[in-house]
Amino acid sequence: MGALGLLLAALVVGCTSSPGPGAVMLVTFDTMRADRTSAYGYHRPTTPVLARLAAQGVRFDHAYAVMPTTDPSHASILTGLYPSEHGIRRNGETMRDPTVATLPGWFQDRGYVTSAVTARAHLDPRALGIRGFDSVDVPVAPKLTRKAPVVLRLVEQRLASMRGGNWFFWVHIWEPHGSYDPPAELRANFYDGPVSRSGRVPMRLRVPAATCGPEGIDDEVKRAVSGLYDGEIAAADRALARLIELAVKHAPTGTTPLVVVTADHGESMAEHDKTSGVAFGHGRSLHQETVRVPLVFWWDEHLAPAVVGTQVSLLDLAATVKALAGGDDAGFGSYDRSLAAHVRSGEEPEPRPVVIERRRFVSASEPELRRRQFAWIEGGEKLIATDKQPALGNLAAGSAPQDVDLKLFALSADPTEMADRAAGVGRARAQELAEALAGWRREVGRRSGEQIDNGKTVEKAPEPASDPRKLEELRSLGYID
Ligand SMILES: [Zn+2]
Repeated sequence: MGALGLLLAALVVGCTSSPGPGAVMLVTFDTMRADRTSAYGYHRPTTPVLARLAAQGVRFDHAYAVMPTTDPSHASILTGLYPSEHGIRRNGETMRDPTVATLPGWFQDRGYVTSAVTARAHLDPRALGIRGFDSVDVPVAPKLTRKAPVVLRLVEQRLASMRGGNWFFWVHIWEPHGSYDPPAELRANFYDGPVSRSGRVPMRLRVPAATCGPEGIDDEVKRAVSGLYDGEIAAADRALARLIELAVKHAPTGTTPLVVVTADHGESMAEHDKTSGVAFGHGRSLHQETVRVPLVFWWDEHLAPAVVGTQVSLLDLAATVKALAGGDDAGFGSYDRSLAAHVRSGEEPEPRPVVIERRRFVSASEPELRRRQFAWIEGGEKLIATDKQPALGNLAAGSAPQDVDLKLFALSADPTEMADRAAGVGRARAQELAEALAGWRREVGRRSGEQIDNGKTVEKAPEPASDPRKLEELRSLGYID
């Protein structure tokens, strides 16, 4: 490039981008529901560190995961694509197209050193087909998960080895995910249930039932399990303090790091046990406890404290981080958008419908789980739509309002979704939102490789690959059906 070219390039850079952070850390807590964090108003002090971070940064009050399942949700966070677009609709699968643009790839293309340390086997960008990481550290069998102190040590080693330069780091923390077995000193703050002479909590509480009959779960059990879960959230929050220290210490000289904290999904504490048969865990239902997650941006000296109340999707995280780092505001896919201007100003974005998908169940014995289910959140209302027929292998088929069972909740008046209005006062509104969801399914279905042929929908895209050893290891974690 000649001198004029260089000058033009400098002018273009000067005009179109603001200086970004030299260091970006994305922290994803596995299984951390927003309403159990003190950062989001929970009455117990589960997350003092996240609360401090949120008070100094920008907190999105209504942020939603795209699917309450680990691999699909993380793939969407890193690509800005819905699960039905990238193709990972259950754990253990690989993206349909491993060449799609990704957030780490964007940083890599700009000379950032990109790293990932995760805490669960097979939560591995290489296995998921997510390109753009220079370095990945993931547990390998027989060790299938790792505790936060191990993650912290690996992150520190990696950062120390970089010796300057810009970096992007994805750190995944496992603690709030079951089994619920917090360190004894944190457990004591949140749990007063039974403990054996050797100091252990009974297995039935550490690894409680995922499902139950219509009689539901005993209140004492709910209380005890909740206490253990809270203790695990506190353990995750303690790790966050060290991660921030590390990010600040290892950011390029004279810069402050951008830290983004979120979760891949929440967790059921048997809130809807009697109506849904779901007790503890995540993946089976799309109720608020499993899909509303924390989302906090912290960038000292660059972001003014703010709370954004508009509902947003983690689909928008990648585009937002890219724009905060000096990129343009374009999304990575067809549906995501950058919220960077709102992170910078604290002003509310234009509301958009939030779509949440339920994962693909392959061999579940419950017929209900083989039916596709979606949530559509718009205007303070949430539709949960379940196909009447088991999944037909495509997105658009059977999606018309008459082909789905509908539930409608008024989130502002009924934030825990106890009163279904679809058969009563909300009937017309439920139909209206169901039409909108059907339109989304037709459009995404077309774009993701499914084609409508003489009224029948044919799935053109191949089924995602699954490695038998990987599936067996995930099964041993209780991780897939
Ligand atoms: Zn998860």
